[in-house]
Amino acid sequence: RDVYKRQMVAVLDSVSGAVVVIGPDGEVENHNRAAETAQFLLAPGLANLQPLQRALAQVSEAAVHQHSQTSQRAFDPATDRTWLVEGVPLASGGAVVTVQEITEHERQIRELSRVKRLAEIGQMTAAIAHEIRNPLTGIRSAAQMIRQHPETSGEFIGMIEEEALKLNALCDDFLEFARPLQLNRDDHDLAEVVGRVCELMRPTYQVSGVGLLVEFTTDGRRIRVDERRMGQVAHNLLRNALQASTPGQTVFVRVRPGDFEVEDQGTGIDPADLPRLFSPFFTTKADGTGLGLCNARKIIDAHGGEIAVDSTPGRGTTFSIVIDRNVA
Ligand code: ADP
Ligand code: MG
Repeated sequence: RDVYKRQMVAVLDSVSGAVVVIGPDGEVENHNRAAETAQFLLAPGLANLQPLQRALAQVSEAAVHQHSQTSQRAFDPATDRTWLVEGVPLASGGAVVTVQEITEHERQIRELSRVKRLAEIGQMTAAIAHEIRNPLTGIRSAAQMIRQHPETSGEFIGMIEEEALKLNALCDDFLEFARPLQLNRDDHDLAEVVGRVCELMRPTYQVSGVGLLVEFTTDGRRIRVDERRMGQVAHNLLRNALQASTPGQTVFVRVRPGDFEVEDQGTGIDPADLPRLFSPFFTTKADGTGLGLCNARKIIDAHGGEIAVDSTPGRGTTFSIVIDRNVA
């Protein structure tokens, strides 16, 4: 028994975290070496208001008196250190409380997310600058033409309007990406929401010589969606389908009570691109932002729905959205 006990002490002393055994009365009964060097344990009374002491007191209290196993993260702003405190009640009364310093671990996690965020901001800034320059150049040249040949103003004013619209859509994409998503859900007939977007897009399709066939299999049932956001999703998919199509082809939109799909006969997607399709800034277009599908997925996720893609290069692509399986 003695050998066994010496072994246990050696094992506990070898761990870097503090291990403390607390008796049924809340007094420290035993502890390993790490607990000794960490003066916090030997500080009289656990009620001291330092964050670590406070966590220790609460975790031991829960373990000893409520017999519940809890853990707490304690951060001390004065020293910028963080600990994880865990308490496990013992069947015989009392508890074992362990303390591990996780300062370095937490610092690395913070650093990693900071670096990731910076990289995203960098990508985003470059994309914004790039995307804004083209329409601005168009607007400036149109303005110059009007100055030189005022009689042609009609045509160039149209160009300015079109470029301004592009800039507007661009701002929408970027803001949608940057903002945390807050849904504004209400009862809507999906056929109405998607149908409206189709009619808005129809003139653009006509100009490009691409057909747009919309099929509703709905019965007037309503589902809870954010109308504007869901319209954006449909708009992004219809825009992509149009951009992938050539004149003479047709895009099919099928809407059911809880789901809809957009099918084109266009270029299709290279299988190698599929894993990155929904990532921000992934685009194969000279004037793309790569935010359309990323935003669409964000919106569908927030609705608890699913977005899937099925594509054959050279044959076409279908994007399917399921928002509510129960009404589908
Ligand atoms: P963007 O349209 O600005 O490029 P998206 O996020 O909308 O950004 O789309 C990302 C990429 O996915 C596109 O650049 C394109 O390569 C591919 N893609 C999306 N929809 C289709 C589609 N219907 N047919 C073919 N490729 C598509
Ligand atoms: Mg797009």
